[in-house]
Amino acid sequence: MTTTPAAFQRCISPECGHTYDLSQTLVACPECGDLLDIAYDWDRLSPPKTWKDIEANWAKRTNPLNFSGVWRFRSLFPFAKDEQIVTVGEGQTLLQQADEVAKFVGLNAGKLHLQYEGMNPSGSFKDNGMTAAFTHANMVGAKRAACASTGNTSASLAMYCGVTRLMKAVIFIGSGKISYGKLSQALDYGALTLQIAGDFDDAMARVKEVSKDMGIYLVNSVNPFRLEGQKSVMFRVLEALQWEPPDWIVVPGGNLGNSSAFGKAFAELKELGLISRIPRLAVINASGADTLDQLYNQHDVRWNDGHYPRHKIAAYYEKMDADHAKASTLASAIEINRPVNLHKCLRALNDCDGVVRQVSDQEILDAKSRVGSGGMGCEPASAASVAGAKVLREQGIIAPSDRVVCILTGHLLKDPNATVAYHTTDQETFNSVLGSRGVKRATFANRAVAVKNDMNDIVQAIQLYG
Ligand SMILES: *Cc1c(COP(=O)(O)O)cnc(C)c1O
Ligand SMILES: [Zn+2]
Repeated sequence: MTTTPAAFQRCISPECGHTYDLSQTLVACPECGDLLDIAYDWDRLSPPKTWKDIEANWAKRTNPLNFSGVWRFRSLFPFAKDEQIVTVGEGQTLLQQADEVAKFVGLNAGKLHLQYEGMNPSGSFKDNGMTAAFTHANMVGAKRAACASTGNTSASLAMYCGVTRLMKAVIFIGSGKISYGKLSQALDYGALTLQIAGDFDDAMARVKEVSKDMGIYLVNSVNPFRLEGQKSVMFRVLEALQWEPPDWIVVPGGNLGNSSAFGKAFAELKELGLISRIPRLAVINASGADTLDQLYNQHDVRWNDGHYPRHKIAAYYEKMDADHAKASTLASAIEINRPVNLHKCLRALNDCDGVVRQVSDQEILDAKSRVGSGGMGCEPASAASVAGAKVLREQGIIAPSDRVVCILTGHLLKDPNATVAYHTTDQETFNSVLGSRGVKRATFANRAVAVKNDMNDIVQAIQLYG
């Protein structure tokens, strides 16, 4: 008799549903090619019965696994033994009430919270997932790990490799589409960085091929273990709200790993009886990379119990290729036309009564400056969440009294170019960085004031502007 382990990999397609052992390194179901989940036979595991079981870890923070904002919730994704887990203290993030930003969005005071994932060791939410994928890579004894990246995945992978020395990082980036903050991290942390002629979608296709051929461990968000770690973003949001689910979670959509992970987290928490109500999920595309919005809102593509209309999706991609459509947005972290987790995101939208919207680069940058003026800066892609919440407020889908959590996915300093260009007094800089991408004005610019090196001038300027 063979015994199935209590944690395993399972194809998300109900028509297939094949299961695989955790010891296998897979990026797709070998049977049908669809995405894989990490699944748990909860009856044979010991998930928390109440949140008190999780809170018990707070008192034991000298154990690095309990200090980690990801692994203190490990009983909700128990795929590794404690001694196999690789942590660098990720997930020390903050849910911040942001009344100034609430005003901008059109929400009542006290109703908007920003989940600031820029406080992770590599400066983005990606560390939540990387620690989990890295742990699995460690479990299977990988020597090299690779990713294609718009920047933050590579920064995170390079960081884990640099700190732990357990693996070597190989990073694929597209040409010219990576912000300097992120590229500087990969280079400084010592990753082998391959800049291929092409965009993110090209880099993604290549890294899959190479990983397969060379047996390199792939840590892109097709990696199902990453999403297990990313569930913890929602656990920390709930923790900060004393386990009371908000009405809305608003998140930028790129490869759709976060939205997929969040949906899985809530579905599992409901199944385990830890929450009684699932928040609604809003996934926000940039207008220049709006595949999900197009498929969901224009082509009516739905999860449909796992029988999603593959022909419609395939036809959409065929047309995109025929038109030579390339994603284009200043929010480089979500500049993606073929979101690898699309199917899982459809499931999340189904489980969380979700909505999808798109926002322009203008809306993104204006929202970004409002977030920044609230003292918690973020990179452009992150601000799509706040811009999207504003749109949903204006459309009456979010009510002024709804409790809303926007996820700020990455740190302000990841992309200083966009920020400096937004606030600049120099029209040429504005035009070359922002104007060329369709941004017309810096609505909330905080411009530097030029003064002579002279006491009187300086005093006058302070009196005038301060
Ligand atoms: C990766 C990334 C995203 C996109 O997240 P997905 O899970 O791929 O949808 C958004 N913002 C930032 C800052 C990112 O690094
Ligand atoms: Zn399958």
